[in-house]
Amino acid sequence: MTISRRDLLKFAGISAAAAAVSGCAATGGVAAPSASAAPAGKMIGKHQVLIIGGGWGGLTVAKELKKIDSNFDVAIIEKNDSFMSCPFSNANLGGIKGVNLGTLTHDYAQAVENFGYGMLHTTVTGIDRAAKVVHTSKGDVGYDILVLAPGICYDYKGQFPEWSDAKIAKARRVAPAALVPGGEHIALDRLVKNLEEGDVVITVPAGKYRCPPAPFERASMIANYLKNEGLGGKVIILNETAEIAKGAAFKEAWKEVNNGNVEHRDNCKISDVDFDKKEITYVQTVFKDKEDTEGVKTTYTIKYGVFNLIPHNKSNPIIEMSGVATTPDWFKKVKMATSAEKPVSFQTATDKDVYAVGDVVGHAIPPSGQSAIWSGKECAKEIAHLLHGKSYSVASTLPYKSANVCYSFVNGNPEEAIMVNHEFMVSGPVIGSKGSVPKDEKSGKFRTSGLAKATHDWYKGAMRDLFG
Ligand SMILES: Cc1cc2nc3c(=O)[nH]c(=O)nc-3n(C[C@H](O)[C@H](O)[C@H](O)COP(=O)(O)OP(=O)(O)OC[C@H]3O[C@@H](n4cnc5c(N)ncnc54)[C@H](O)[C@@H]3O)c2cc1C
Repeated sequence: MTISRRDLLKFAGISAAAAAVSGCAATGGVAAPSASAAPAGKMIGKHQVLIIGGGWGGLTVAKELKKIDSNFDVAIIEKNDSFMSCPFSNANLGGIKGVNLGTLTHDYAQAVENFGYGMLHTTVTGIDRAAKVVHTSKGDVGYDILVLAPGICYDYKGQFPEWSDAKIAKARRVAPAALVPGGEHIALDRLVKNLEEGDVVITVPAGKYRCPPAPFERASMIANYLKNEGLGGKVIILNETAEIAKGAAFKEAWKEVNNGNVEHRDNCKISDVDFDKKEITYVQTVFKDKEDTEGVKTTYTIKYGVFNLIPHNKSNPIIEMSGVATTPDWFKKVKMATSAEKPVSFQTATDKDVYAVGDVVGHAIPPSGQSAIWSGKECAKEIAHLLHGKSYSVASTLPYKSANVCYSFVNGNPEEAIMVNHEFMVSGPVIGSKGSVPKDEKSGKFRTSGLAKATHDWYKGAMRDLFG
């Protein structure tokens, strides 16, 4: 595969990175299928700081590093040509005024131009930490410091071991999870907007997953859309556990705004789906009390009009490719470094030259875009100090109030939202967090129109932060 002039221009970004990739136009990187099988491709560049993933975390690290010192040679490898935001995608599904798929989509060239880092659009296929080289489908890229910011992936195989690859591929096509950036949001939007009759079913996975309030906000927003369009169906949430992020606030809205049109069913495990008949079979366990560990199981089969199957989440395969140590749970969070000098850090426990940010980190903080921005800024400070021969401890900034502020729309007419506010603190060897969901003192309700305005402002501010 040859690297095109267009790719090179993108990668070159501004001067520093340009020097590193000059003369590469004729080289042909060898596509490497996996880490272990990855044959060494041709070197197409080397960078002081190389970031895998141009999402919320990766873009922040790159921008902050260039803001701290424009001489730093920083580049991002990102597989998508354009950025699509997961945050605010539920507002699009709900028909919130002025929000559409275009609102979610951003042009990476804008960020490269404004902040001066390099960006190569290609897929990372392997990582050789001993050689300090990242294999991509366009060739190899060297680094001094590597930042892992690849986000999550889905664990269909782990959750549905009996499903064939063809059935999983069908699930991805006809019941898109829409929890990662890209075309899944377009597919889910199409399915919802083309719905003529029937219910919308959303599953909520057990274990750590991206943005815990997201499926519940999605339920509120799709219910808002169904009401506005005069469609008869309701939204059914099949939750694998009984946990609901911002639970009291969502329940208040489902009761008072959606009039029973959002139905939450807890402890529901999907046993099978017939995607042709549009039928879901699941087992619900009802527990008598907290001591009851067995419960009573009942099997149900329900029909759907649209199915948003959100499977178990885990760290993107990039983490396994890198070979850094991870937690033993199915998500496989990256184990972070800890020492007396730096009790908490975005450096990995395994390799002092490899850092991690975003949803993959092994800190006890919410997997959110706002956490990724906060972490990206702190990670950049750690790396910048190191490159300047100094030391920086993230603990020096903790406890940090409102490190993560996350809004969720619950009503479109009038626009109303709820929020959670997290403080981050040192919690043993990791960064911990404590959240609170405030009520409006005057109305005594969780949802307010002021928070809906704050949601719009937050998204605009975040996009300005990432793209300039
Ligand atoms: C519906 C929804 C609503 C949400 N709402 C909010 C909200 O209101 N507020 C909030 O703070 N957060 C929200 N989030 C969460 C937020 O989107 C994530 O927490 C955030 O995107 C995590 O950032 P990240 O950098 O870890 O991953 P990402 O933003 O996903 O970035 C990872 C990047 O890595 C790239 N990549 C992956 N593999 C490769 C590879 N092999 N080669 C090259 N590139 C690769 C991907 O293409 C991607 O661009 C929401 C999420 C969803 C799904």
